[in-house]
Amino acid sequence: MKPAKASNEVHATRLEIDGVTKRYGATTVLEDVSLTAEAGEFHVLLGPSGSGKSTLLRVIAGIERVDEGQVLLGGELVADRRVCVPPEQRGLGMVFQDYALWPHLTVADNVAYALRRQGVGRREVADRVGGLLDRVGLGDYAQRFPGELSGGEQQRVALARALVGRPRLLLFDEPLSNLDADLKERLRVEIATLTRETGATAVYITHDQSEAFALADRIGVLRDGRLVQHGTPETIYNEPNSPFVARFTGLSGELSAQVEKVRDDGGVQVRTLDRSLVAQAPTGLAEGTEVDVLIRPAALKLGDADPAEDSHTLSGVVRDTAYRGRGYDHVVELPGGTLLCGVFDQRPWQRDRSVALEVTSSGCFAYPCADREPAATAGAGRNDAR
Ligand code: ADP
Repeated sequence: MKPAKASNEVHATRLEIDGVTKRYGATTVLEDVSLTAEAGEFHVLLGPSGSGKSTLLRVIAGIERVDEGQVLLGGELVADRRVCVPPEQRGLGMVFQDYALWPHLTVADNVAYALRRQGVGRREVADRVGGLLDRVGLGDYAQRFPGELSGGEQQRVALARALVGRPRLLLFDEPLSNLDADLKERLRVEIATLTRETGATAVYITHDQSEAFALADRIGVLRDGRLVQHGTPETIYNEPNSPFVARFTGLSGELSAQVEKVRDDGGVQVRTLDRSLVAQAPTGLAEGTEVDVLIRPAALKLGDADPAEDSHTLSGVVRDTAYRGRGYDHVVELPGGTLLCGVFDQRPWQRDRSVALEVTSSGCFAYPCADREPAATAGAGRNDAR
């Protein structure tokens, strides 16, 4: 990619969402959502299907009205229960999952369309469109039609089209969902780089936690229309405030346990499978509480079987070894049948081998059993973030 042109820079804008509620008939799909994106920040809204991500994005865009609360852009009220400034007056650029290009227009005309409607002069349109197409690596494709491009190329056109009007706010609606893995990663880097170069504030929705962690300055986790946690990727990963957030952002597995001791550092010592482990207690816990211990893949380290039954260590048997390029993912079965997945090591451990698993307390979270929830809605079993 070539360096950005100064002419593509915009004035960064603060986005404030304050107590937004949205209902469809009797169904509340957004409930009292408040969130501030500082000027130039890249925000990712992460949540399972049906959690309200698209609805919130459409509220920010001005495609949906709100029932309660308000939205401010750069301090200016753009939405409340009476006001709804239309999308074209909000200074937005949008990129959609399905590209949404006009099939009968060339690549250059797709990108130029909004500028022409704004009455920008021919020369400037040509310069800006040409500059951006070069920037996304499609300078030679200006006269092609979308149907003559691959999915990744079409999404680059959509990105150029979103950026050409120098929006103060960029909205991304799962833009990588339709692309294969390799292309996804390359386009993700381009989206991150280009967005940050323009200085626009960005809101990006996805159900893919690895995408969210890779892109975001801040992540908002949505569940059933409510914002359940909001913070930096590091905070969300290291201090998930509920089992839902921990599960949705990648676990190796879960164990039932009982709190033996509350520690001075705020963590807890728990008893599980005749072993003692130290875990974080994000919601606070009392001695004797029955808990679920949720373990991140990164908290587990494989070692030789441990006859001494050291604390901080679980024993198990390797049930599966999968080559992942940079190393190997293992599935380890614990006594009692619990499986821990995605246990990474650079070298392979053979199937059926007895091993010890060292457990690091920073990636291990204990929550009261009462917080238990159906695994399917919480995305349990996903373990691709580490
Ligand atoms: P997500 O983007 O996280 O998958 P959505 O915002 O699309 O979630 O949907 C949130 C909830 O709102 C879902 O239960 C969905 O069925 C419902 N919903 C979305 N749009 C409408 C609509 N126009 N009428 C009624 N219900 C809707």
